[in-house]
Amino acid sequence: MEKVVNLCKRRGFIFPSAELYGGFRSTYDYGPLGVLLLRNVKDAWWRSMVQLRDDVVGLDAAILSSPRIWEASGHLANFTDPLVDCRQCHERWRADKIDGVCPSCGSTDLTEPRAFNLMFKTHAGPVEDEATVCYLRPETAQGMFVNFLQVLQTTRKKPPFGIAQVGKSFRNEITPQNFVFRTREFEQMELEFFVPPAEADQWFAYWTAERLRWYRELGIPEDRLRLRQHEPEELAHYAKATADVEFLFPWGWDELEGIANRTDYDLKAHSAASGEKLEVFDPQTQERYVPWVIEPAAGATRTMMAFLLAAYQEDEVGGERRTVLRLHPRLAPYQVAVLPLSKHERLVPLAREVLGLLQPVAMCDFDVTQSIGRRYRRQDEVGTPLCVTVDFESLEDRAVTIRDRDTTEQVRVAIDQLVPEVCRRLFA
Ligand code: ATP
Repeated sequence: MEKVVNLCKRRGFIFPSAELYGGFRSTYDYGPLGVLLLRNVKDAWWRSMVQLRDDVVGLDAAILSSPRIWEASGHLANFTDPLVDCRQCHERWRADKIDGVCPSCGSTDLTEPRAFNLMFKTHAGPVEDEATVCYLRPETAQGMFVNFLQVLQTTRKKPPFGIAQVGKSFRNEITPQNFVFRTREFEQMELEFFVPPAEADQWFAYWTAERLRWYRELGIPEDRLRLRQHEPEELAHYAKATADVEFLFPWGWDELEGIANRTDYDLKAHSAASGEKLEVFDPQTQERYVPWVIEPAAGATRTMMAFLLAAYQEDEVGGERRTVLRLHPRLAPYQVAVLPLSKHERLVPLAREVLGLLQPVAMCDFDVTQSIGRRYRRQDEVGTPLCVTVDFESLEDRAVTIRDRDTTEQVRVAIDQLVPEVCRRLFA
């Protein structure tokens, strides 16, 4: 864990936020490589959940949101964690995470748990009074429910169909911890899939299998991934069934994603609060009904961390130790690094020509400094699957060397064959 956190800082994946001022309350900034990796995680999700399907559409709802949404959804009343104070050192903890012992001073002299609401409250407009209170959304899901009718009317979709959203959510977590695993500002990737009630169990099974497949396909190894069904007493009040996709983190199994059968709870709650009928018409039975919802809800930032932990390896190449991130090519921040063998004035222009050919199809890095061996190591360390080296022979034969991160194998390819060859290796 420490190695990955160090790598993240050293190579520009994730920086502690406001470090210039001593940091700020477990917030993080995504650096030049982190922003690429995080974007790739979100894009891979979007590709699988929206682009490659014809039954899911997208949405990007507002983060600043009306209190009426959160009143209707039950968040104002129920979106709480149990908070305890340590009477010895006065630290505050989430009671369900500490087993009755203060992690800071070891005391068991704790107050009774009390409900602490996790919503971030603010004011819209220049007047700070009750009438202007609004909230930063603590999940993206409600955006899909309150836009349900608009999406239905504008897309003419019918259940089974889904609405997908990726974006920031905010929770005033009592104890943010484990790097970006639990933070107060984070990103989610959520799908609300609306189905006829009789098909809910079948779609719940479908989405749990589908989501597990997504993590596996992008390189989470089988022995670090599992599905955990919630016990009946663990279920949220609105859920008929929930299964968590869990990853084996350095501190043990923990949640990456929750997949829930939310029944018709949300649409009915917003119908009751707004007076609008959130229903669909079934042409077969000629009746209107409220669809049930199957929700796969994942964390983008948390999942990015799992991909980094799973990809991190140390091995040996030619008798030398190396650190390598075996990231899937769809996730790697740079997919290709173009490396002229030296800064020689004749090599660099050809290397730039090669870079120009590759940039439209892949995210590329271009690096001219240090020995070629050290530059390979630097690319291995950030997970770049392919290096393309331009050497003096390239000036004669218009061919370059492709070096593979995982096998370190090198092959010579004609420049006019380079784009299809790189695409085959990255995306086949
Ligand atoms: P937890 O029990 O860990 O607090 P949760 O069950 O309340 O999480 P959900 O409301 O189901 O989480 O949110 C869906 C997903 O959003 C989680 O599986 C996780 O990946 C992500 N997520 C939730 N809270 C945070 C957070 N504070 N920081 C980072 N990611 C989060």
